[in-house]
Amino acid sequence: MGTYKESSIPVADDDQVVEFCDHCGSDIQKGQTAWKVGSDMYCSQSCLKSGLEIVTLRI
Ligand SMILES: [Zn+2]
Repeated sequence: MGTYKESSIPVADDDQVVEFCDHCGSDIQKGQTAWKVGSDMYCSQSCLKSGLEIVTLRI
């Protein structure tokens, strides 16, 4: 008794935000997958594709 420690301490969301998507402006939080191209950060593959105007083709 008394030795149990809470491993998931609630933290304000702002403390977890480390980057912002340069395409949609969404928060990119610590531990989240993101894409960086040069100095631009993208929060998702759809933002990456539209931000860089990437089109997926089947040749
Ligand atoms: Zn985005």
